[in-house]
Amino acid sequence: MNNLLFEYMDEAIDIINKSTKIFIASHVNPDGDNIGSSLSLALALKKIDKEVFVLSTDGIPNDFKFLPGSELIQDYNESMGPIDLFIAVDSSDVDRLGKNKDLIKTTNKVINIDHHISNTKFGHINIVNPKASATGELIYYFIKRLNIKIDKDIATNIYTAINTDTGKFSYDNVSSDTHRIAAELLDAGADIKEVNINIYESSSIERTKLFIKTLGGLKTYSNNKIAIAKISQDILTETNTTLDDTEGIVSFIRGIGPVEVSCILKEISEKEVKVSLRSKEYVDVASICGVFNGGGHIRAAGCTINSDLNSAESLIVEEIIKKIR
Ligand code: AMP
Ligand code: MN
Ligand code: MN
Repeated sequence: MNNLLFEYMDEAIDIINKSTKIFIASHVNPDGDNIGSSLSLALALKKIDKEVFVLSTDGIPNDFKFLPGSELIQDYNESMGPIDLFIAVDSSDVDRLGKNKDLIKTTNKVINIDHHISNTKFGHINIVNPKASATGELIYYFIKRLNIKIDKDIATNIYTAINTDTGKFSYDNVSSDTHRIAAELLDAGADIKEVNINIYESSSIERTKLFIKTLGGLKTYSNNKIAIAKISQDILTETNTTLDDTEGIVSFIRGIGPVEVSCILKEISEKEVKVSLRSKEYVDVASICGVFNGGGHIRAAGCTINSDLNSAESLIVEEIIKKIR
């Protein structure tokens, strides 16, 4: 971590010290980094007697309901009072905040903590470092800088954030610092058994059937270097599942030997498709998603295409093929 960020952290700490009501929010379609970073920061700020609200954008996926503090996540309502300080975590731009995005206009104190290369630095203070493997890494340094002790519950949340955003410490965003942080989190009591069982070993039969059906429709292009699966609303209805249950399919597909880019297309409605891309060794999928106004990281990115499933497939395949060698 470079000193520049510590300077920004110190400015942020100064603002936190002067604030009473602190609101934390993250991105739409929540993932482990989103929830783990939000909750660890909230639990830490509560320890220094701040009134903290963790705002829900799209609820909380079942996989993460076991996390300590998850009951803090709630919809914004006016009775919470005016926003003293708004902290956005793991969100590359204002639109990613979904239904909470207009709230940042009601305050002149916005802290943006994130690790996406595509971050637009929309905060008054921006603690943004694309070298961090997860926003959870930045939260770890920030809580230490705040001089708040990382207890078991905080450690379990940060561990979840990092574990999920790094594919269990396997992607090339992992550094030796990532492992040093993980070691400290284990020393602080992070419950890795709970994390592992709840996130990776609790699939329902319905979700398993969704995986089977989706993978049954797998298509490949460019000598199996591109693999794509589509998830229609019909498949979700047939298997009695929701979009949350699709988590993990795209990384499973990337795990197929010859695949460089994996892609899943999720039908949100007749004219809206959410695309998830993952790459293995050399394709920058954030730039492919950029073509469709999305973004993310080099090896994991997303975007939304306003068309039907089949047209979205043609459009995205055309862009991916250009990047395959
Ligand atoms: P997903 O495929 O939804 O799991 O997202 C993979 C990564 O890309 C995550 O880091 C997301 O935060 C990011 N991402 C997904 N969709 C978008 C989007 N529309 N704009 C910017 N970043 C995105
Ligand atoms: Mn995220
Ligand atoms: Mn993240």
